[in-house]
Formats: sequence, C-alpha cells, structure tokens
Amino acid sequence: MENSQAILVKPQQFEIEECPIPEPKADEILMKVEYVGMCGSDIHGFEFGPYKKPKPGQKVGLGHEVAGEVVKIGSEVTKFKVGDKVLIEPGVPDDSCEYCRSGHYNVCPDVDFLATAPNFKGAYTQYMTHPESWTYHIPEGMTTLEAALVEPAAVGMHAAILGEARLGSHIVILGCGTIGLMTMQACLSLGATDITMVDMMQKKLDFAKKLGARQVINTQDIKPSNGERCTPDDIAAYLRSEDQFGKHGVDLVFECSGSGFLAQVAVGIVAFAGKVMMVGTQAKPVPVDFGRINREVTIMTTFRYCNNFPQTIEAIASGKFNVKDMVTGIYDYKDIQSAFEEAIDPVKKQDMIKGVIRVGGTEF
Ligand SMILES: [Zn+2]
Repeated sequence: MENSQAILVKPQQFEIEECPIPEPKADEILMKVEYVGMCGSDIHGFEFGPYKKPKPGQKVGLGHEVAGEVVKIGSEVTKFKVGDKVLIEPGVPDDSCEYCRSGHYNVCPDVDFLATAPNFKGAYTQYMTHPESWTYHIPEGMTTLEAALVEPAAVGMHAAILGEARLGSHIVILGCGTIGLMTMQACLSLGATDITMVDMMQKKLDFAKKLGARQVINTQDIKPSNGERCTPDDIAAYLRSEDQFGKHGVDLVFECSGSGFLAQVAVGIVAFAGKVMMVGTQAKPVPVDFGRINREVTIMTTFRYCNNFPQTIEAIASGKFNVKDMVTGIYDYKDIQSAFEEAIDPVKKQDMIKGVIRVGGTEF
C-alpha cells in the first residue's frame, strides 16, 4: 500500500488501514514519517477513547510527537527542500485571535492540534502534510528519534522557563513520569543544579537520579504522623525539615503528576515569594488553603508550550537535555497494537518511561 494510518476503531483497538498519500498545499511540506512518540494522552486515548469526543463516524488517529523527512514541498515553501530531516510542532493556531496576537498561541481556542478535535488527524501514519511555518529543521547532532521527542521536551521547557528555573533555584519536582523528567532536564539545561525529584515508584526515582537529579525522595519512605498513610502535610513537613530545605521552604515547585494529593504537597512546601507551577493535568478540584500561602506565592498553570521549540532543539542538540536515554522501548509501526497494550498493562507500564513507534527510518 502507498500510505496507511493507524485508526483507533474503538478503545484499545487499532487498525492500520490504507489511505492516499496527501498532497501538500502551497504552504505545506509532505513528510515521510520516521518516529512518533507515545504520549500519555495517546495512551489515555487508546485505553478509554479520546478526551474530546469525535463526531459520529469520524476516524480517530493518535500520535503527535513526530519527526521524519521531507519528500515533497508545496509551491510557496522556501525553508525546506526534499531530503531535509524535520520535526513538527503539532498545533497550528489560527494566528488571528486575541491570544495569538498577544503572544499566547498555545491557548488559541481554534488551534488545530494533531490527534484531537476537531480533525483527529494522527501522526501514526507513513506520510503526512504540515504547514512549513510549524516545521523545524533537525540540526546536526540530533537524530530523528530524538527529534520526535522535542514536543514532550518542550512541555518541560515551557514550564521551566515560566518558572524561571536557574542556577541557585531550590527546585522540587513532584511526579517522575515523562513530564516530570522532561521538566527536570529542562531545568538542568537552564543551569539549575539543585533539583529534588519526588515519586512513590523507586524505579522512576532511580531513573531520575541517573538523568541528573541532585536527590530523589520516595514518599513511601516517609513515616505517617498518625495512622497508616501519609497525609500531604506529613510529606510537606518532611520536605520542609531542617535537613531538606530548611523551614523557609522551596523556591520553585513543579507539580507534574496530576495528583491532587501532590498539589496539596506543593502548596505545603513552597517558600514565601516562591512559585508553584502546575504542569500535570488535575482531573478533579483541589482544595487550596490560601491562608498558608499569603506571602506572595505565585501559582501558575502551564499549557503545552509557546515559542519553545527553538530552545528545546538547541538544548537537545547541544547535549544539555538527554531525551535519548528516556526511550525505554522502540516498537515497529506494524506492532502498534501490542505497543499500546504494553503501555496500559499494569505491570509492564511500570518499566515504560517513553515508548516510540518506528514508522520508517533505521537510525538509533
Ligand atoms: Zn488564535
């Protein structure tokens, strides 16, 4: 077949179906896809169906962390030529609303983002088109595999830059999943060195240590003050103890787990005039005692990224940001079904930090 795409026909069931090679519009490139990352949102979409509901009968594709090679260009394309290795920014904003015009294109309400409403166009396909203006060259020193991970890395970079992570910042990152580890490495690439990672899974903490965390703390090692289970206050008290950060608390806290429990820990450990960056998606409301943080604390939510691809590409290409070692599995496109089954398997998923689908291409 000349082209194909993996369609989620129902939750937990992909089918690879034949489709035509798309024709690039005047301002688009046609890319032969090489690697596509497996994002937490793809894995969630596979398990339960997409967050946003497709229209009846609409085909649902997944995948948005993608890199490959230009094989055709539209008549107005000037930055790229056939044979160039590229990666793409998967959200194309309308470029005309108030948000776009004020420099916040990541919150554009009309963004056309891969693998979600309104189009559900996924990157688990062999050939896809994309606008030239949201496509980037892969520089010397970066493989196509690494390039496919620029997108999740940019989420961490956006959070680290908004949080103003720098040398001298005392940083705690709550949650050692992909986004927590990406945020950690973004902070490292910006010069921060004092980063403490917190999680309840030792394997992930060991991984964080290997990637450059100053220290790692397993919440299961913290003794509850009363009863069998720790409360957010117990964990906050431990982190604020003299031998951790001292009574003054932590300058910069990233909540990267999406857990309401850890969100309360974040509020419990932040210093006066410090910052809490809410990076993980909180599924439920979380009570916040503003009385405890009435000393000029900033709480900020982050969303995807905005103008962060160039920095992230530079950080990875220069070796300051290690995405390569985060790849725990590379799966062939034809095995996409079993790759995602592994990602939702309660035991196997514990060993998966970042899975990548290899569509074409051979480099490692
Ligand atoms: Zn807009």
